Amino acid sequence: MAEEKKNNAKEIPDKTGYIIAAGVPLINPGNIFPEGFLRKEIPISDSGELEVIRHYSRLSKNNFSLDANFYPLGSCTMKYNPKINEYLANLEGFCGIHPCQDQRDTQGALELLYNLQQVLCEITGMKRFSLEPSSGAQGEFTGISIIRKYHQVKGSKKTKIIVPDSAHGTNPATASMCGFETITVESDSRGLIDINKLEQLLDDDVAAVMLTNPNTLGLFEKNILEISRLIHSKGGLLYYDGANFNPLLGITKPSLMGFDVVHLNLHKTFSTPHGTGGPGAGALGVVEELADFLPVPIVVKKDQSFYFDYSLKHSIGRVRSFYGNFSVLVRAYAYILRLGAQGLLRAAQNSVINANYLRVKLQLLYEVAYPFICMHEVVLSAQRQKEKGASALDISKRLIDYGIHPPTMYFPLIVKEALMVEPTETENKKTLDNFIRIMVEINNEIDTDISKVKDAPHRTSVKRVDEVRAARFPDLKWSAEKSSKQ
Ligand SMILES: *Cc1c(COP(=O)(O)O)cnc(C)c1O
Repeated sequence: MAEEKKNNAKEIPDKTGYIIAAGVPLINPGNIFPEGFLRKEIPISDSGELEVIRHYSRLSKNNFSLDANFYPLGSCTMKYNPKINEYLANLEGFCGIHPCQDQRDTQGALELLYNLQQVLCEITGMKRFSLEPSSGAQGEFTGISIIRKYHQVKGSKKTKIIVPDSAHGTNPATASMCGFETITVESDSRGLIDINKLEQLLDDDVAAVMLTNPNTLGLFEKNILEISRLIHSKGGLLYYDGANFNPLLGITKPSLMGFDVVHLNLHKTFSTPHGTGGPGAGALGVVEELADFLPVPIVVKKDQSFYFDYSLKHSIGRVRSFYGNFSVLVRAYAYILRLGAQGLLRAAQNSVINANYLRVKLQLLYEVAYPFICMHEVVLSAQRQKEKGASALDISKRLIDYGIHPPTMYFPLIVKEALMVEPTETENKKTLDNFIRIMVEINNEIDTDISKVKDAPHRTSVKRVDEVRAARFPDLKWSAEKSSKQ
């Protein structure tokens, strides 16, 4: 206790000369910070260990997690995070190294990065991979920056990127961030790219077509070879948004479909953790012609040792500090090694079987937006339920009461009242049957006692929040007074 008191009272001058003293008013010597932003005191409670543990355990139960519940979030592949990955990423040799350490001391880590680059090349058919980008969106930014530089080096002025209307929002955002004009191509009645409309849009100004295949409706783009031929005939490139490559692992490769640049979300396809914007890894691969444009450094192997290569001729430079989200990369590599080629193929098959099982079992009650065999996800539409007074949002909120995370809602934008469900390959039949039972039950509730659905969730500590207000006027400051009112 005496020791604790001493610590509490200890004054720790930091580099800027500020005095931080627990429980003691802070001073602001240079008046650098406006008064309003300074804490008057740091409230440190004198609770005992048991109370603190109970407090945080209780808070943790308010979190929705994959370890506790089913999480069928379409397009975002929230599959389980194998615990062995955590164990491996936490090995001293991986988590105890420093990014500035001499390369001779970190050969094991470099070998892992090299092997992961190689195995991703094998999986996608690309020539070379960079592990630097730390999210899908950053992978896209890296890929489209490469495409921009490639056209510049060739001396061709190209100003447009074509993106389908079903695309993930990051695709048009990336094209704009890289200075291109985004042109939208419509989907046809089968949910695929309208080839005739694409042909009309293609001209010499098009730098690339950005595609997801299977697309965000969960459908395989059957005309992909024709699309590839069309864009290449205009001197443009084909970009693959492989955020969710899980349904095609071991079945086909982006290279066979004619793609030139590929990003993979390791945090979706290869089971590493994600959520709230990170930590992720959006590894980026390219065909031989683009290999010298990748960000530096990449890891190369020479005479049985591994080192960073900064000498790529046309490199776009760095896209982040150091070498990627290293501990995420360790987890992805562990997952790939553990499954092996046969296991990855089974994962792909299971992801497709699971989504189609849900599609067939639910299609009598919920409209299927595009009623065809799907890949890893199925887009339902709550149009019928909406006509009876309960929207996709209401159904999603009611699912929370049943311990299920809401699916992705109102996306893709071209489907009304969309509920985009991805069960993932790692869920068993019992979990899927339970989900089906609950979706049937919610549909019954809409007919018999709609307030159960309209007023949901009933069992959470926070009810429906005003999401628009939360986005426009975020209240990011904690106050004891506000917190006690909740
Ligand atoms: C998730 C996703 C992205 C973006 O990935 P982030 O890691 O969230 O930036 C891009 N495209 C598709 C199809 C996705 O599902």
